[in-house]
Amino acid sequence: MLPILALFVFILALVLLWLANRQQKSTGLPQGQVIYADTNLWHRTEKSFYYSQLNLTGKPDYLVKQDQSTIPIEVKSTWAPASPHTGHLLQLAAYCLLVEQETGIRPPFGILNYQNRTFSIPYTSQLESELLDTLAEIRRKEVMDSVPRSHESKARCIRCGYRDICNQRLR
Ligand code: SF4
Repeated sequence: MLPILALFVFILALVLLWLANRQQKSTGLPQGQVIYADTNLWHRTEKSFYYSQLNLTGKPDYLVKQDQSTIPIEVKSTWAPASPHTGHLLQLAAYCLLVEQETGIRPPFGILNYQNRTFSIPYTSQLESELLDTLAEIRRKEVMDSVPRSHESKARCIRCGYRDICNQRLR
């Protein structure tokens, strides 16, 4: 069961990124605030969270307690963009939603940690709505036989884990 869940998390992240890149024009999502983060307080997440109503699962890299809230943290191995990509915001929003379902307390923000910079991202109702809309779009596309490629980046296809089975890969 776990490998299936892990695969789903990976696919979800991939599709979120894909959709987000396609929707890069979207505005109004929180840009986040650069913060200093005391990583000594972070705890590795031990188990995946699952929200049956949305059939959504995911595992933030770390969690940190702040007052009564549990804050999810996503760590990226890359250098920070000027402001976080929409795909990263949506992935973090999914973790915020899962943490809320698990703990019963809505996290006021999540944390995106890049190699050189850490952002605090407010978990606003607008970000949550964007996430729910994106998940609904994913569900619609899941039943389609084929989804058109959303980009013209050979580099992305070269790095993609699906290139061997994707009939739309760029060479
Ligand atoms: S190989 Fe390219 S087109 Fe196919 S899924 Fe991966 S990134 Fe998208």
